[in-house]
Amino acid sequence: MIVALAGGVGAARMLSGLVQVAPPEQVTAVVNTGDDTVMHGLYVSPDLDTVTYTLAGMINPTTGWGLRDETWAAMEELRRYSDGRLAWFNLGDRDLGTHLYRTSRQREGAALSTVATEIAARWEVGVRILPMSDDRVETRVVLDEGTDGREVGFQEYFVGARHDVPIRGVHFAGIETARPAPGVLEAIAGASKVVICPSNPVVSIGPVLAVPGIADAVTARRAEVVAVSPIIAGRALKGPADRMLAELGHDSSVVGVARMWAPYAATLVIDTADAGMAAQVEAEGMRAVVGPTVMSGPDQAAALARLVLGANAAGGPV
Ligand code: GDP
Ligand code: CA
Repeated sequence: MIVALAGGVGAARMLSGLVQVAPPEQVTAVVNTGDDTVMHGLYVSPDLDTVTYTLAGMINPTTGWGLRDETWAAMEELRRYSDGRLAWFNLGDRDLGTHLYRTSRQREGAALSTVATEIAARWEVGVRILPMSDDRVETRVVLDEGTDGREVGFQEYFVGARHDVPIRGVHFAGIETARPAPGVLEAIAGASKVVICPSNPVVSIGPVLAVPGIADAVTARRAEVVAVSPIIAGRALKGPADRMLAELGHDSSVVGVARMWAPYAATLVIDTADAGMAAQVEAEGMRAVVGPTVMSGPDQAAALARLVLGANAAGGPV
């Protein structure tokens, strides 16, 4: 069994590589739910959906989120009703079906993990997709001075403000009492390999590791844990990971990533562009494996998966 700790886009790409080199039934994704939000009364879980839609081959190639072949009639109507005010978070017509279904099932008493399994089954995804927790955890972002130190929900920061404002801090409301979703700790304990996907370390992997019990479970498997850096040559491929790291006092580099993941993972896969920093990564206590890590297509994702699965604490890629 392979367990992948996952955010959205970077993780979905990593998983699409893993299922090309391992049977999907042997892969479990433990997915961040700190981004989840209630929009128009509907429970929206962006990272669960990005992972599910990507593995289903249904991710929208234009937006990078939501479903392909999407239409937007409901949003356009909402935009007209509210003069745009209520339509800042785009939800496509087909995608809305997912949120309607998830919300209805939750109102019937089904746990988020149960519904995640049902949604994955509807899309015939073989990977076991688990939320990090069935309990509500909400990533909150504290904006920096100049923006008056206001605290906002993650989607307000990420989508509403297009993550174009400096931040001072991040916290995960509800995390203290959140329990790992059923099966999460067992999957980690029984895994032959645990992969920390190339997702935003602060707001995608951070919440997963912050669920009480998960960090300890991962640390106990440290020799078999391989992380892939989402930072390449100091930059995130997309999104605010590089800026968030810097604003929160980390190094936006593979060395900064190594400092964050060294307690949990024995190995860090870094991009060829960062080969010159391998020695510094190793000085942080991680083995550095160097290779191409930009998953521009299925073949690159599969090659990275092979590198990740071959990488272990004992020796070089096998
Ligand atoms: P989100 O939840 O959709 O914002 O996405 P994630 O948290 O999963 O991922 C965002 C991070 O993934 C960014 O820092 C990107 O640099 C990283 N990322 C996306 N695609 C790739 C890739 O192909 N290779 C690597 N190494 N990182 C990637
Ligand atoms: Ca996300």
